[in-house]
Amino acid sequence: MSELGSSPSGHITGCYRFPDYSLLQCLVSAFRPTNETGNFWTHFLPIFIFGFHFIEIFEWEGAPGPGEPFFYPAWNYFFGVFYLLLASSMAHLLNSMSLIIREICFFVDYGTISAYTVGSSLAYYYYIHPQAGIPKIGFGALNVSQTQSENAEEPPIAPSSNSSFFPLHFQFFDSLYIPCSCLVAIICVLICCNTRQQWRKYRYAVRTLVFLLPFFISSTPIFYRLLSPSPYPPSSQTPSSYPSPTMATFFYRHCFWLVVSAAFNISKIPERLSPGMFDIWGHSHQWFHCCTFLSILDELHMIKVEIRALLLYPSLVLAPTTNPQLPGPTIYSTFGLMLLLQGCIASIIIWFGWCAYHIYEPVQKSLKVH
Ligand SMILES: [Zn+2]
Repeated sequence: MSELGSSPSGHITGCYRFPDYSLLQCLVSAFRPTNETGNFWTHFLPIFIFGFHFIEIFEWEGAPGPGEPFFYPAWNYFFGVFYLLLASSMAHLLNSMSLIIREICFFVDYGTISAYTVGSSLAYYYYIHPQAGIPKIGFGALNVSQTQSENAEEPPIAPSSNSSFFPLHFQFFDSLYIPCSCLVAIICVLICCNTRQQWRKYRYAVRTLVFLLPFFISSTPIFYRLLSPSPYPPSSQTPSSYPSPTMATFFYRHCFWLVVSAAFNISKIPERLSPGMFDIWGHSHQWFHCCTFLSILDELHMIKVEIRALLLYPSLVLAPTTNPQLPGPTIYSTFGLMLLLQGCIASIIIWFGWCAYHIYEPVQKSLKVH
């Protein structure tokens, strides 16, 4: 989630690094006051905060082992976020090595954003999608009735899918959701990389639109849950809240932070109001990083709410009448898919990197001569 902030915007007036740093100088610059120092730390430190909140899912009662298929989608989501934060922070740190590396840093940044959206889609698909078939697998050690009675005070969260609730078009959606997420991710990388070499006039508008699209595609299971009426009759023993208030709250907060981060990114506030004052600390890109991380954290909480519901109330999540159910996650449908996607993204980055090399090599040489 980052648009590298080192390009002179007119509002940040100093503390730039020159594009001929060595690798060591770049790494050391994380501890020197430059306009990239805050950009690096505001995505590097969150890696640890995210990891801390993530590992909690393995400690819950009834949770299968971390290596069980049940957690494959969660791991893919974790790696999506991990690579996004790591690549973004390293891109901010290393983009002063040369103009070509700077371009590649941008490309990698776009690539990790897209891979992250597919990681989210996998988690949504297997944990939030009402037809997820996960409770069928990976619950060998779980005594459901015991767990339910021990946690009776907690409301069941994700309600069941019901065959009358899922017409044919929904099955059509089932099979197209993940392929669409991947396709959109690849298109996003292609378009964003291209805006650095062509269509430069409209690049900010194009990139904003391009990153809105994966959000709407990925979030469809959540929109469905937010808009669906409760499948339970009013007399049912189960609470009729659908979806759970917690899940909805986390989703709205996730959206709120995304909007705030976009506002910082577009408005260039506060440095626009006082050029030169926020060169090192407090400029808009750092607030943009903070807000995008808060949106990721709320997304994680939302996914965790659903995982917990699946662990505690599998019989409620999936009614016995449910038919058909989605197949559970496998190595191929999660890690295999991600690996394939990363291969495609890496190929796109290599191609655009090669083009950037031909564009910037003469400029870089002339910089060194002077
Ligand atoms: Zn950034």
